[in-house]
Amino acid sequence: MEAGDANLHQTDGKDRATQSLLNKLIRSNVVNNTNQVEVLQRDPNSPLYSVKTFEELRLKPQLLKGVYEMGFNRPSKIQENALPMMLAEPPQNLIAQSQSGTGKTAAFVLAMLSHVDPSLKWPQCLCISPTYELALQTGKVIEQMGKFYPEVKLAYAVRGHKMERGVKIKEQIIIGTPGTVLDWCIKLKLIDPKKIKVFVLDEADVMIATQGHQDQSIRIQRMLPKGCQMLLFSATFEDSVWKFAERVVPDPNIIKLKREEETLDTIKQYYVLCNSKEDKFNALCNIYGAITIAQAMIFCHTRKTANWLAGQLSKEGHQVALLSGEMVVEQRAAVIERFRDGKEKVLITTNVCARGIDVEQVSVVINFDLPLDKDGNPDNETYLHRIGRTGRFGKRGLAVNMVDSQRSMEILKTYERHFSKIITDFSIPSKYLRR
Ligand code: ADP
Repeated sequence: MEAGDANLHQTDGKDRATQSLLNKLIRSNVVNNTNQVEVLQRDPNSPLYSVKTFEELRLKPQLLKGVYEMGFNRPSKIQENALPMMLAEPPQNLIAQSQSGTGKTAAFVLAMLSHVDPSLKWPQCLCISPTYELALQTGKVIEQMGKFYPEVKLAYAVRGHKMERGVKIKEQIIIGTPGTVLDWCIKLKLIDPKKIKVFVLDEADVMIATQGHQDQSIRIQRMLPKGCQMLLFSATFEDSVWKFAERVVPDPNIIKLKREEETLDTIKQYYVLCNSKEDKFNALCNIYGAITIAQAMIFCHTRKTANWLAGQLSKEGHQVALLSGEMVVEQRAAVIERFRDGKEKVLITTNVCARGIDVEQVSVVINFDLPLDKDGNPDNETYLHRIGRTGRFGKRGLAVNMVDSQRSMEILKTYERHFSKIITDFSIPSKYLRR
């Protein structure tokens, strides 16, 4: 591979990891999905179990309590099938694919916690994640769900966690990134991989987008004993992910849940005619009161416009959040968390920055600039992803497009035609406009 390619790979992996983290942070509940779950059983003759309640799984009482304490009333769609498979005796291997937010993490965390023998003081479950931040996030879920099961301990095999060679780790669950986990197994000999009973590879699609992680993951997997349960999760399933999954998980059961289509059916779409950036800002101020009844997201084409707009709105005394490409992951995460908690009602961002982040709770979207592809042409997919919502009873929403030139009007018309949905003129007669 050329050095340039490697760099590209690295950036892609980093982007995907950030997207995945932000998606986790912005979500406070499980994503509804009305699609059918596809299940491919390794042994087609064994009965296909699915559960509608957590009680049916005969979990340890401490774990059931943890699940309810987290506010889960019933298994999510993917959990209905995945949990019985993961908790079966003898252990079953599983490859599961469903979009972010459908309950995969909660499912494998429950499986790990269920399989641990707390009387044994060595690592028994090993989970690898693509980045430090994602590993910590999963660790938090383990800690929450295992709240009433304090005998089970967790160790983080991540950068910065310095360990001395040969010290034996007593924690039963290890969550970490591939490089550090390898070091802990081989160089430092802190973990005996032969004693691992459950191996989880999370975010396989993000993992393989990061240079080196694929090989490291396979090296880890090869050290595990034959009877070890292998579980692999991914939000997407390109061919490359599939090939990787098959190398990591022998004799898998497979569960897939298709991403639900986004639609514009429940979204009222408007446009506002303006002459300039300043004019768009004024128009925005005029509708500001209305849009902040709910949570709103404002998309700008460039980082510069986003910064400018955030500055202008702040000057007007509005409290807005800005998600910008200049920020490091921690800063972006902090912005997203504040927005999730409703501390700010308006989030300003750019296309690039918000790509891949699902913001179901946002019911007002302002396209301060219309979405365009990198060649400046209409980008139907991005338009739909920004303002469309999923679900049979798709939440109602409002989208306002700011149009400031003949060209942007043409683009708007393309969107109107493409989706066969009318975009209504919302322009305020200029005499009422603040200048
Ligand atoms: P994924 O790993 O697929 O992204 P998560 O396991 O992180 O999904 O779950 C997404 C969100 O839904 C989290 O906030 C989680 O606490 C919540 N969640 C998971 N399972 C359930 C459930 N059965 N009932 C209610 N909420 C759930």
